[in-house]
Amino acid sequence: MNERDARFAEIGRALREHNKFAVLSHVRPDGDALGSTLALSLSLKELGKDVRAWNEDGMLEKYDFLARAELLTQPPSAPEDFDVAVALDTAVQNRLGTTAAAIRHAKLWVNIDHHPSNPRYGDLVYIDPTAPATGQILFELLTNQKFPITPAIAENLYAAISTDTGSFQYPNTSVRTFEIAAELVRCGVDVGRVSQLLYENFPRRRIELLRDLLDTMRFGCDGKLAWFSLSKASALALGVIPEDNEGLIDHLRAIRGVIVAIFFEELTDGKVRVSMRSKNEAVDVCAICTEFGGGGHVLAAGARVRGTLPEVEKKIVEQACAAIERNT
Ligand code: AMP
Ligand code: MN
Ligand code: MN
Repeated sequence: MNERDARFAEIGRALREHNKFAVLSHVRPDGDALGSTLALSLSLKELGKDVRAWNEDGMLEKYDFLARAELLTQPPSAPEDFDVAVALDTAVQNRLGTTAAAIRHAKLWVNIDHHPSNPRYGDLVYIDPTAPATGQILFELLTNQKFPITPAIAENLYAAISTDTGSFQYPNTSVRTFEIAAELVRCGVDVGRVSQLLYENFPRRRIELLRDLLDTMRFGCDGKLAWFSLSKASALALGVIPEDNEGLIDHLRAIRGVIVAIFFEELTDGKVRVSMRSKNEAVDVCAICTEFGGGGHVLAAGARVRGTLPEVEKKIVEQACAAIERNT
């Protein structure tokens, strides 16, 4: 048995042998976090387990079409005991947010993720930084351990993989990713329907937000760096909610000549959320974000940095420009 299968066997055994589970994922969730949480929760429920699927933000409006979306809720204020708590797609434990406080005790913590910066917290750990999505790892785990993959589970895994690969476009999209996608379609995923709900169903306010962001667009580093910013005042005026901005940074990354794109979002707690994308493996945005207490992947990373919007913009733009000049 190879290393991977041995790990899967160990995790599979822990999942089979226990009864009460909490399945968790990171704050400000994306499609991979929510799809993966639902997929694993549903598979465990098929096995007759008692499962809570929790995220600090609950189910986002834009993903509430996912099969059995109603299972995923915000954590309760009164903590509960569990046999097993599973953290999915969560690079650092504190990104579990309020869900961690809702777990009074768990006999076992399982950590399944694809962020290279994951410090391997927990008792049973499976990190594959080559996987483009946690959903891809879960597909491998569930099939390897002969856990159920119903059409509802397949749809959630497909949404997780589709969103984290930028619709099968990012460079970590592999032969295996397409094989898994094919298998999920075979399980009943309606590609046209899911894709339309994921990518052609935005509220109008998201596009109004994009118009506002493009007004703040700036370039630096000879056009290799592009950024835009959202102030608290603009967010309020536009009536946008946090989930509205996921993916808008791709408009900056898509510009010819741009290597690094940055999105700055002023938060309500005196911090600025920094979201970074790189088009060149030599410019590691995770390394930049890690310097500021964040993390992520080489080509997509984030951090929350204390300071005003102009202060944080200045610091991060300087670091990003230095990284581009050093490495290209
Ligand atoms: P985002 O820009 O928010 O879409 O995040 C890009 C990637 O960086 C995702 O894989 C996140 O999990 C990771 N990431 C974002 N913010 C943080 C943070 N504050 N700490 C650690 N990782 C983060
Ligand atoms: Mn994620
Ligand atoms: Mn992910």
